Amino acid sequence: MGNGSNGLTRPFSLYGHISKEKFKQIKEFSKDKQTPFLVLDLERVKEKYDELTKNFPQVKVYYAVKANPDQRVLSELAAKGSHFDIASRFELDLVLGLGVSPDRMSFGNTIKKAEDIRYAYEKGIRLFATDSPSDIEKLAENAPGSKVFFRLLVSNRGADWPLSKKFGTKKEYIAGLIDLAHDQGLVPYGISFHVGSQQRDPTQWDYPLEQCAQIFTEAKAKGIELKMINLGGGLPASYLVPTPSIEEYSKAIFESLHRHFPAGFPELFTEPGRSLVADAGVIVSEVVLISRKAHRKWCYLDVGLFGGLIETLEEAIKYPVYCERSGKLVKMTLAGPTCDSTDVMYKKASLPEDIEEGDKVYLLTAGAYTITCSCNGFNGFPPLAVLYL
Ligand SMILES: *Cc1c(COP(=O)(O)O)cnc(C)c1O
Repeated sequence: MGNGSNGLTRPFSLYGHISKEKFKQIKEFSKDKQTPFLVLDLERVKEKYDELTKNFPQVKVYYAVKANPDQRVLSELAAKGSHFDIASRFELDLVLGLGVSPDRMSFGNTIKKAEDIRYAYEKGIRLFATDSPSDIEKLAENAPGSKVFFRLLVSNRGADWPLSKKFGTKKEYIAGLIDLAHDQGLVPYGISFHVGSQQRDPTQWDYPLEQCAQIFTEAKAKGIELKMINLGGGLPASYLVPTPSIEEYSKAIFESLHRHFPAGFPELFTEPGRSLVADAGVIVSEVVLISRKAHRKWCYLDVGLFGGLIETLEEAIKYPVYCERSGKLVKMTLAGPTCDSTDVMYKKASLPEDIEEGDKVYLLTAGAYTITCSCNGFNGFPPLAVLYL
């Protein structure tokens, strides 16, 4: 077996992403199984949760369910004491179904139907995100007296998977939303923001926190006491492009908090998705076809954008791709199996020249945004199967 340097855009160290023992286990486990599938390591999810709470003490964790809504993942996190950020009535039912009480959830989607707000309220949800007057009116009518937090629009510079523009509103508009919510009998509770997913720059929380401090001060002058800041997601997973360590994020974020809230912090929430679950998943796939077109070879896997790898769009997320061949690395185009020309992961992947049809290919760090993003029956391919280590 090679030393694990069969990298995608450049050689990488396999064991920098997964322990030797875990990889061996996954290999054994995958031997006689039909690919593709995602193997989840629930122990790793628990380790990531502990690492997070150690580095962010006194910060309440609201796991962003959309990152990986697998029931066993949710149950492990629930047992750890996690709270949950849900975005639809369906995620609400899923989490309620596991026995989690509604006071451990926030409805974090700013885009919701009046009837879904009513449904959540009837199920006991009393904490909602919002960013528009119309949504506040719907909340006042269907979830009277609930706590609301206002989503601030922030730059997503530095993020590999930006969420900017679609969510949140500028600081100038937030004051008006706070007044409206207050007038309508809701409880203005705090401010949230999301610096963009797979945020590689730990200083990106600083400016939003400065804005939060100004919003808190302005609200207080009007007699409204905001109590909470939701730091959002954005903490990274270990893909091919390196990121600072979680300790560095913690240090940068707490330094900003000290600077902008010298008299003491408000209540703090975090909404991790990717950083808790990505490292816990490996997609095991197989080479279906290798073909030479013009000057470059194409390598087609049995998994692609429609099978869970949607985040390779524009090559935004660079999964470490590993196969057990030790040949020289050459550039090939790595593509999925469907009859759609967008189903190409990477135009110039570095793959070993001796890779063959039938070889197993492992995509590491694949536990986030894969099962939720795999299609149901595109070209007849079933959604990505999930197995547990
Ligand atoms: C998706 C999402 C998250 C999770 O973000 P990650 O970058 O995956 O940690 C957190 N909060 C909200 C509101 C989200 O939509």
